[in-house]
Amino acid sequence: MKALVCNTPGEFTYINKEMPSVEDGMVLLKMRRLGICGTDYHAFEGTQPFFEYPRILGHEIAAEVVEAGGGANFKTGDLVTISPYFYCGKCIACRSGRTNCCVNIKVFGVHIDGAMQEYITVPATAIVSGEGLTVDELALIEPLAIGAHGVGLAQLNKGDTVVILGAGPIGLGTIAFAKISGAEVIVIDVNDNRLSFCSERLGITHTINPLKTDVLEQLSKITDGEMAKVVIDCTGNLNAINNAFKFLAHTGKFIMIGLQKGTIEVVHPEFHKREAVLMSSRNALPHDFAYVIDCIRKGLVKPMDFITHNVPFTEVKEKFNHLLQANESLIKALISFDE
Ligand SMILES: [Zn+2]
Ligand SMILES: [Zn+2]
Repeated sequence: MKALVCNTPGEFTYINKEMPSVEDGMVLLKMRRLGICGTDYHAFEGTQPFFEYPRILGHEIAAEVVEAGGGANFKTGDLVTISPYFYCGKCIACRSGRTNCCVNIKVFGVHIDGAMQEYITVPATAIVSGEGLTVDELALIEPLAIGAHGVGLAQLNKGDTVVILGAGPIGLGTIAFAKISGAEVIVIDVNDNRLSFCSERLGITHTINPLKTDVLEQLSKITDGEMAKVVIDCTGNLNAINNAFKFLAHTGKFIMIGLQKGTIEVVHPEFHKREAVLMSSRNALPHDFAYVIDCIRKGLVKPMDFITHNVPFTEVKEKFNHLLQANESLIKALISFDE
């Protein structure tokens, strides 16, 4: 079988591998679709910290069950996705059910080899079945679950004003789930294409491009001077994050889904007088996956709207650079495997 290895930043090679063997508790999957994520682009560019090479990338999976090892209850042909955050089950986070931030976490396709290969084996416990969903939809569940998790942490009430920074693939999912929660969503992004996508496809009334408008002034106008009950960052941009503390209402909550490497600066009196909360949102939990699947089944979220590019697995090596540069038009690119 074929696999695509990222040998070193900027370099992919197709290799031939032995078919993996199926041990007890493991399931052999045939890949059908794979979403390409910001993490994959950063790993390829070499800007992902603590990344080790060579590595097989890919964690946004739609696959077909080929064979289930002893103790695994799946039928051949079942279409599934996986929760790619393999956890230890023993650490302080796992013991409180927060396996998404396990101390010893191994993310499939990040810390261990992932799914840019024709067949993979994963623990049966990682499999999420998505009966009734298409392979394209299944590949979008994981990135959508990231947004759903962040929105869940915000504990929104109907009518709360939420500012979402960044309308990339993760941001768009976050926007969709905040909207489903009944919040009044305001989207900030520098890309007008993405802002029009938010107004046209996601029904967002207020979008702001900070390159063209004074955000603070605009926000104050929209919220009658109260500002945002919740700010969710999906940019992972230090400047955007530091700036956005000013957008918080008194009693507000700031949630960071995006990740960056720098030090965040908070003006203490400003933060203090608001009795504000700052929290990070990492990966997602099983209930987030279930919620996303439920929303897709009900037609509340339409993953197909996010898919703008599709590349056959055999052409990923030659087309990856092109995808990296397709920033303006790209929302989500999927890799298709032969059936
Ligand atoms: Zn991802
Ligand atoms: Zn753990």
